[in-house]
Amino acid sequence: MTREPDYIFSELAKSWLSKYIRQWKKIWILVNKKWYSGWIFCRKCGFVPKCDKCSVNISYHKINTWKIWLCNICKSQYDFPQKCPHCWSTEIKEFGIWTQQVSELIENEFKTKTQIIESESANSKKKIKEILSQKDIQIYIWTSLLNTPIQWLNLDLIIFLNADLWLNIPNYSAEYNNFNFLYDTFKSHNCNNFIVQSFNPEHYSIRNACKLDKKNFSQKDNEFRKNNNYPPFADVCVLLYKNEIEEKLFNKIDKIHKELLYLKEKYKMNELEIYSTPPIIYKIFGKYRYNIILKWKNLRNFMDIVYTKLNLTQNNFKVDRNSENIV
Ligand SMILES: [Zn+2]
Ligand SMILES: [Zn+2]
Repeated sequence: MTREPDYIFSELAKSWLSKYIRQWKKIWILVNKKWYSGWIFCRKCGFVPKCDKCSVNISYHKINTWKIWLCNICKSQYDFPQKCPHCWSTEIKEFGIWTQQVSELIENEFKTKTQIIESESANSKKKIKEILSQKDIQIYIWTSLLNTPIQWLNLDLIIFLNADLWLNIPNYSAEYNNFNFLYDTFKSHNCNNFIVQSFNPEHYSIRNACKLDKKNFSQKDNEFRKNNNYPPFADVCVLLYKNEIEEKLFNKIDKIHKELLYLKEKYKMNELEIYSTPPIIYKIFGKYRYNIILKWKNLRNFMDIVYTKLNLTQNNFKVDRNSENIV
């Protein structure tokens, strides 16, 4: 996708779309709205407006003809800014891929109807059958994969608009999740052709999924986990601390971090890794958040000590002792 003139559909996808639309084939386009929806962006200074209570981008939603801007987490609504609040430029625009935009683009360019299917409304075989029974629709836009794959449905083409979805999340299982997301879709759907759009086509997670090579992927993924001390070769424990006052958050994290370093020294845990880092979403519902991550071959006994000595049972702590997630 880095060499494509258009950032939504590649030239290849466009040519298959026009060919298959003419042949009246069934096409399924996968857009994941959870991680990949629209936002506002200043062309001049790069400013992206965020929710006041949560540090996430304000995102775009369309209900019939109404356009609304809201926070996906706390649902606060915002007005679309006329000017950038930073540099006062009027070059502040919408950006991103969202299902409505994909739908409009296809309807304008290929003169055919599309149907957007939200995974929440297509939660049973009966409902999916109802949705798919409309005779005049051949392009379906799905917002995410369904829990139960629809193997009884014959599709002619599945297009992944952004196959790098999970790779962009800074987590040690990002490669694994991305591989499985693609691999499972290939394996569990009755479809003849797949188009995989990626910004990292040489990445081992994308390559091996497209080759259906689970063995080679696991080998590479295990090497990475082993070299960097990630599960199953080590334990990862995440202490999440939340507070409404940013200064209190920093003080507490600083204090806990120092106490952990003291315990590390006292119990001679020389190779134990301890670091503090903000999670991917720094603020949610008006509360600031910070993580302390501990990583070592065997954390169980040490964490028992940490629990009693540092009194982690208080309200603002969340402790995940076998964390799959470090963001
Ligand atoms: Zn600006
Ligand atoms: Zn919010």
